[in-house]
Amino acid sequence: MSFPFQLVDLTHTLTVEAPSWNGSCGFSHDIKLNYENSTTEVKFRVQQIKMHAGIGTHVDAPAHCIPGGKCIADLTLNELIAPCVMIDVTDKAHARYSVTIDDITAFETQYGPIPSGSLVIFHTGWERFWTTPNEYRNQYFYPSVSKAVAELLLQRNVVGLAIDTLSPDRPSDGFPVHQLILGAGKYIVENIANAIKLPATGAYCLTLPIKTQDGTEAPARLVGCIPK
Ligand SMILES: [Zn+2]
Repeated sequence: MSFPFQLVDLTHTLTVEAPSWNGSCGFSHDIKLNYENSTTEVKFRVQQIKMHAGIGTHVDAPAHCIPGGKCIADLTLNELIAPCVMIDVTDKAHARYSVTIDDITAFETQYGPIPSGSLVIFHTGWERFWTTPNEYRNQYFYPSVSKAVAELLLQRNVVGLAIDTLSPDRPSDGFPVHQLILGAGKYIVENIANAIKLPATGAYCLTLPIKTQDGTEAPARLVGCIPK
């Protein structure tokens, strides 16, 4: 029996070059023991990972900016595995663009209201700069999401919001989307990939962060599931 979904990997591969929030090396992968130094008959390569919790495709839990809010390990599978909608704003998104209420209205006119309990995924096309970190970071100018849209998504009772940029907020605007979404106990996924391969509606998303105690952010494997 074959798996009844077509799978889409919405995750960037972690590399030393992966764009980090502050421009430092956010991920490293060192070899602590290599095959040739292995004293056992079976040769092993043992590695050590060091990384920022907020590197690559990752989840922000409410505790990221809400003291006392839910941590990564508190997010339930029922929240993390959810129907998703994909809103494509590539045509409009530029470095100072913020997704508007009009974008949501246009989407809902075409596809119907965003279903309660869904993850809303914004594809801005900015992921094209992923392999050129300076352009991706762009001195913190990249497509983001407006405060009004975050308020509307909470009215729709979404489980969370995902985007293919460093953040749904630009520091120059403050962090209203983080405050609203995380303040409502929802989660944010940043630096997603390949969202354009999802249909606008009808798919599901598995958001699987590394389950860390007291984690405020954690790298995640994000998988889109499109019913066959
Ligand atoms: Zn964030």
